[in-house]
Amino acid sequence: MSESEEPEIPVIKPSPNNSVCSECGSAEVECLDWVRVNDNYFIGGSECIPDDDYWCQACEVHAAPIQASEYCEGKGHTGSPCTVCGMET
Ligand SMILES: [Zn+2]
Ligand SMILES: [Zn+2]
Repeated sequence: MSESEEPEIPVIKPSPNNSVCSECGSAEVECLDWVRVNDNYFIGGSECIPDDDYWCQACEVHAAPIQASEYCEGKGHTGSPCTVCGMET
């Protein structure tokens, strides 16, 4: 085992139920969550997050994510198996 300073970021498996970036289909959309400022204790997600509070790492836009299956319906699958929804095409 090699030691690393960086914590490993888990890879998100493609799935039709993933929430993905409506622009590029990346599943690595981030949103702001409630975290207690003093100890970083995770309180929970917000139920109604405005579009501005989402952030896509891949294409650097603020956009609310859509379902992967919905994304592929509109833009078509990306590769086989699809890197967005995981379907064999
Ligand atoms: Zn994106
Ligand atoms: Zn797809």
